[in-house]
Amino acid sequence: MNHFTIWDWADFSRGVADEKTSAAMQAHLSSGCSRCERTVRVLSGVTAMARGEAQYEPPARQDIEVQSRKGGHPGAAHESKSDRRAEPDPRRA
Ligand SMILES: [Zn+2]
Repeated sequence: MNHFTIWDWADFSRGVADEKTSAAMQAHLSSGCSRCERTVRVLSGVTAMARGEAQYEPPARQDIEVQSRKGGHPGAAHESKSDRRAEPDPRRA
């Protein structure tokens, strides 16, 4: 029996594996592979934990949006450096 790698299962548990692969992986699990099932169970726990931590991110993203509205471009600082140079940044002055 061909097992999938832990990386494949990581993609699978995060829901980012491509459709064909995840169908094959689902079929593999359904075939009763206890080794891969255990891997998925561990990774699902890690993914759930990571998602829980990700819930703390939205406030930070709002901060960035607030900064953008004030005229700062924290996400695009590198691309737009040349056309921002003419304007003094009040937060850095
Ligand atoms: Zn397996």
